[in-house]
Amino acid sequence: DGPLLSVRDLHVSFKTEDGVVRAVDGLSFDLERGRTLGIVGESGSGKSVTNLTVLGLHNPMFTTIEGEILLDGQELTTARESEMEKLRGNKVAMIFQDPLTALSPYYTVGRQIAEPYMKHTGASKKEAWNRAVEMLGKVGIPNPKARAGEYPHQFSGGMRQRAMIAMALVCDPDLLIADEPTTALDVTVQAQILDLLKDLQQEFGSGIIFITHDLGVIADMADDIMVMYAGSAVERGSVDSVLHAPEHPYTWGLLNSMPRLDSDPSIALTPIPGSPPSLLNPPSGCRFHPRCPFQDRVEGNRCVTERPLLGAGESACHLTPAQKRDIFVDEIKPR
Ligand code: SF4
Ligand code: MG
Repeated sequence: DGPLLSVRDLHVSFKTEDGVVRAVDGLSFDLERGRTLGIVGESGSGKSVTNLTVLGLHNPMFTTIEGEILLDGQELTTARESEMEKLRGNKVAMIFQDPLTALSPYYTVGRQIAEPYMKHTGASKKEAWNRAVEMLGKVGIPNPKARAGEYPHQFSGGMRQRAMIAMALVCDPDLLIADEPTTALDVTVQAQILDLLKDLQQEFGSGIIFITHDLGVIADMADDIMVMYAGSAVERGSVDSVLHAPEHPYTWGLLNSMPRLDSDPSIALTPIPGSPPSLLNPPSGCRFHPRCPFQDRVEGNRCVTERPLLGAGESACHLTPAQKRDIFVDEIKPR
């Protein structure tokens, strides 16, 4: 039995008026069943594009995809739209930042949860409605029987998020992709939704890809972390190793820009100087080199001439393992 999801040397590019944008450029990772992979990176790092590609939600007219995406052994990059339709909402489901992108204002919440269930399982209308009510109960909506007959606008923001989670999980998907699912919610509701997702993962056993720019959320939710920069992964490992012994200068920058849970909130965050590179014309060598304060510690001009590659459980950086350890311990950690 292989991994639930296996992405191999994925390249996704778009044709734009200004040229070809290499949004994902040589990305590989695996996700095991029942595990949560947190993907972090700034906007434009390729994290959302990767997941839209997994879901087959790219525009085939303008998108070129190379590489492999295997879900349970099935190749998705070459799957027909009709096959993807059978998978979406069934084997793979997605929850978004804004529930109103998933929920229609015109139908009752119950109907919107019942519909994918009927479509994918062949259940009757009544069975599907009962299932929708059951799911609303599971995601913690009080009085689910009555609430199922209401419309999304009658729900609070947090309740809508719960309803969208119910819709995503109604067919018991093997893979759940959550793209910044709690960013729009206040801190208390955010914590409740994250707890709910953890409980539901226990129950449903889905593999989860959790996309966020918030390392605190990742620390809480994920088993493994992949840090993306400019279309590929720069660091990957268990939550423990990446958060406590990070190896890549970009990850150091992210950690530095994160408020500590115990820190004085008045202390300003230190953003990483510079901005993410253009993917129309990405930098040579290491894509992080224009922003990296450590490139002069690498011999020769390798950071500018040679693209570092990510091996298994390492980081894509030319610094030696000893340099990575020493710089992190002596110069980054104490701050
Ligand atoms: Fe910095 Fe060079 Fe490592 Fe890239 S390869 S992160 S430029 S030290
Ligand atoms: Mg995004």
